[in-house]
Amino acid sequence: QVVNYAPFTLLPSAVPSALFEQAYAVQQDFNLLVDAISQNKEFLEHTLASTIKVDDFTARLFRIYTQVLDEGLAQSVFLGINRSDYMFDCGVDGTPALKQIEINTIAASFGGLTSRTAVVHGRVLKVLGKSKEASRLLPNNPSKGLALGIVKAWELYGSQSAVVMFLVEEVQRNIFDQRCVENELWDRNIRVIRKRFRDVFEKGSLDDARRLYMDGQEVAVVYYREGYMPKNYDQQNWEARLLLERSRAVKCPDIATQLAGTKKVQQELSRPGTLERLLSGHTDAVARIRATFAGLYSLDMGKEGDKIVAMAIADPDRFVLKPQREGGGNNLYGEELRQVLEKIKDSPERTSYILMDKIKPQPAMNYLLRAHSPLHVSQCISELGIFGVYVRQGKEMVMNTAAGHLLRTKAIEHADGGVAAGVAVLDTPYLV
Ligand code: ADP
Ligand code: MG
Repeated sequence: QVVNYAPFTLLPSAVPSALFEQAYAVQQDFNLLVDAISQNKEFLEHTLASTIKVDDFTARLFRIYTQVLDEGLAQSVFLGINRSDYMFDCGVDGTPALKQIEINTIAASFGGLTSRTAVVHGRVLKVLGKSKEASRLLPNNPSKGLALGIVKAWELYGSQSAVVMFLVEEVQRNIFDQRCVENELWDRNIRVIRKRFRDVFEKGSLDDARRLYMDGQEVAVVYYREGYMPKNYDQQNWEARLLLERSRAVKCPDIATQLAGTKKVQQELSRPGTLERLLSGHTDAVARIRATFAGLYSLDMGKEGDKIVAMAIADPDRFVLKPQREGGGNNLYGEELRQVLEKIKDSPERTSYILMDKIKPQPAMNYLLRAHSPLHVSQCISELGIFGVYVRQGKEMVMNTAAGHLLRTKAIEHADGGVAAGVAVLDTPYLV
């Protein structure tokens, strides 16, 4: 009664192969970009200045970030596991274009479960007598790709007896997704422990060299699958987070990289000249990244922000209003967007949001299979995610890869929400 299958589509969904390849081709660029931002204090400070005045959660993360920098970083190996999400925007002439929804730099999930979905969909196609189509489904194994990043970071940390710690939620509904990654580590003779913030608060400690110990075991890598939303934290959990960040252990991600994934940063990246400054000398990478951007707008106080607010109120269906939150179900659309903007348009509270052009994909029919839900055909849209994995030692990038993909599909009546939010389901791309 407590274990359900992860929801999935009955059939794989069509994905334009050119856009699929484009998403893979830009992933290493995004890895470089996120990593560059995480090392750019001036950029983070300047970009988040208005946000941290009004958004307490971002402000608290930012305080830990500056505190750790002031003390001096003990960490010298950096591991990023991110997922860049896209939808296929249908232009006026019907040609689809790849547009980024966001990049997740902390706790990007479903790399494990999605390593199995192609097999499920291959079987379904065979049952339907479509063996040729089944053989065209691409193999996909992000759990291995993610694990290889963790392995690399563990090796560079350089202590044979140290463990990898998965930092997990109090109640972990998505444990099997995490186990897929964990199993890859045990297969390579790396010990894994699963702990909560509360355990770290009670049993975590640092030695003089700021090595992290849990129950007397040295921890080489902390892989966060938690800690990205306000409800993950009480006062003790904040203290545990600070302890982890101060430590020498490789955090995936460190707090700077988490901040690099905020929606405010995403919006600032779209300003002309910003990418060029952050990735100077990488002209092609800048062009590839920019091609995936949808329109993004700042609501900071001032004339520019006033104009944007008026534009959104006049035509709310063209936009999405996003607060600095992760995990799905936080964005505002349509009439609700208009009402909220009307209410906060003259208050600095508006700077805790960003505005984004709404992406409008072409819907397709599919069946969404969910435990205890009736089966019926729905009009659906899909979101493609590419997993990025990179490792940096000091100033040197020693690994930079695209580690696999995730396709999630939902019925069009849901504007927001992912798989964990109970809206989207796991899918497999069928390239066309
Ligand atoms: P979160 O951090 O909560 O996952 P996202 O930015 O990914 O926030 O938005 C959540 C969901 O809302 C997405 O998975 C997508 O379905 C929908 N969404 C977000 N931005 C847009 C957009 N610009 N156009 C259309 N749908 C969007
Ligand atoms: Mg998202």
